[in-house]
Amino acid sequence: MFTATPPRKIENNIPDDLFSAIALLKEELNAVILAHYYQEGDIQDIADYIGDSLGLSQQAANTSADVILFAGVHFMAETAKILNPDKLVLLPDLEAGCSLADSCPPDAFAQFKAQHPDHIVISYINCTAEIKALSDIICTSSNAVSIVNQIPPEQKIIFAPDKNLGRYVSEQTGRDLVLWDGSCIVHETFSEKRIVELKVQNPDAQILAHPECETPVLRHADYIGSTTALLKYSQGSECDKFIIATEPGIIHQMQKQAPHKVFIPAPSTSNCNCNECPYMRLNTLEKVYLALKNKTPEIIIPEPTRSKALKPIQRMLEMSK
Ligand code: SF4
Repeated sequence: MFTATPPRKIENNIPDDLFSAIALLKEELNAVILAHYYQEGDIQDIADYIGDSLGLSQQAANTSADVILFAGVHFMAETAKILNPDKLVLLPDLEAGCSLADSCPPDAFAQFKAQHPDHIVISYINCTAEIKALSDIICTSSNAVSIVNQIPPEQKIIFAPDKNLGRYVSEQTGRDLVLWDGSCIVHETFSEKRIVELKVQNPDAQILAHPECETPVLRHADYIGSTTALLKYSQGSECDKFIIATEPGIIHQMQKQAPHKVFIPAPSTSNCNCNECPYMRLNTLEKVYLALKNKTPEIIIPEPTRSKALKPIQRMLEMSK
């Protein structure tokens, strides 16, 4: 007689004390929560590690946990899965994508690469597993300049997918990079005009910017760096007031580490919340709880793609030691 497998029970009830419930589940599953600085404050507060893409991938490479809950966007959880094929990697909301990763479709990029056969490909980690599999080295905004500087000067380079970061790296290294025409909707939303107006109203503030911002914004910055670098700079600087031109989720950590300082989010071109990443903000504490409780949504990557994508990530990790 045929017996159907009973459908897996999916829990939808949310307990009152989410912080305790998540802590309990983490212990039961031997799970680690890795969270990006652009996550909402509550998620940052329950995370075992908070960082930018480089720090998070280093943590993912070294974790002894059985389950990784990645509070970030899809390409970040994919990176954790590429590094940990035998672990269960959970993303609280599978719709948490990335406009920058989406701006580089694998078929079109493969054709672009074929047009430049004597170039190596350095890809910013904000790209899909398929793009990583087409790359020679991965980089983050923390190490992009250092990685390009380690490539022999005669070697030609395609830089993908972010043209703004690519332009910044090209200026910093003096290298002529072939750029893929991709960008992030959040970092392109900052208004040069409104940042300058804000600076006029706050002449004692320093402007800190992420290199994914466009050149007109970067040229007003007192300091340009990855999210981790911006955080460190804001703590170490003698200045007490900052205008922050990156996703404002980072301000939670900046404020926590320096409660006496003032952090002003850089304004976007219109009076909207477009400086908040709509993908990052899809994750909530409730979804973190449900993902751990139900052990889903899980990140799955077909094996040939995963192993091809692993090599350029490993090269990055080696070159960043
Ligand atoms: S801030 Fe931009 S690059 Fe980062 S996840 Fe959001 S859309 Fe992607």
